[in-house]
Amino acid sequence: LFAGEVDFLKGVVAMDGLPPDDRAEVCFAGRSNVGKSSLINALTGRKGLARASNTPGRTQEINFFTLADSHYLVDLPGYGFANAPVAVVEKWQRLLKQYLSGRVSLRRAFVLIDMRHGVKPVDDEIMTLLDRAAVTFQTVLTKADKVKASEREKILAQVRGQLAKHPAAYPEIVQTSSEKGDGIATLRSIIAGLA
Ligand code: GDP
Repeated sequence: LFAGEVDFLKGVVAMDGLPPDDRAEVCFAGRSNVGKSSLINALTGRKGLARASNTPGRTQEINFFTLADSHYLVDLPGYGFANAPVAVVEKWQRLLKQYLSGRVSLRRAFVLIDMRHGVKPVDDEIMTLLDRAAVTFQTVLTKADKVKASEREKILAQVRGQLAKHPAAYPEIVQTSSEKGDGIATLRSIIAGLA
């Protein structure tokens, strides 16, 4: 799947801009700075495909990428800006809710969590949205290279404890490093398996 063409299709700011839902689709969500752009670039092997999304306002689009002819990969706007205007946050939440609850071809959401920080309250809110929309989500721990092997089990236990509260959580957690390449092949094959 990832060996074929990967292309940016479009950025969407409202529901009527969504492409037809005629392909299997996966989406990526995470706090700003979690490493989402880096992960998408590592997955697709295309540096600079997903732009780093570090400025609120510029980044309220849902970005669609095509994977071969069979899948969409969807980059949701980063959340959890400390000082984003309330109106921006509300607009984003509205679009996100509409997207998650209305997208029949959405096979799975990947919720990215910075492995150093574990599940934060804003992550928990997104997970609750996914529960309500009945969208299965899988947790991806990012920046695993920044965590000592001796600390991993404790962090995994915290994350598992949080996931236990969420009926839509998929039990398998994927640890990744966009820098070192850990977990990238695993994530690719998970996505390829979601037909
Ligand atoms: P986004 O805002 O979620 O799209 O995050 P970015 O992909 O722009 O990454 C935010 C910062 O984390 C950047 O400085 C990246 O270089 C860094 N980063 C992202 N992924 C990794 C990783 O796997 N390991 C390490 N060490 N740093 C990472």
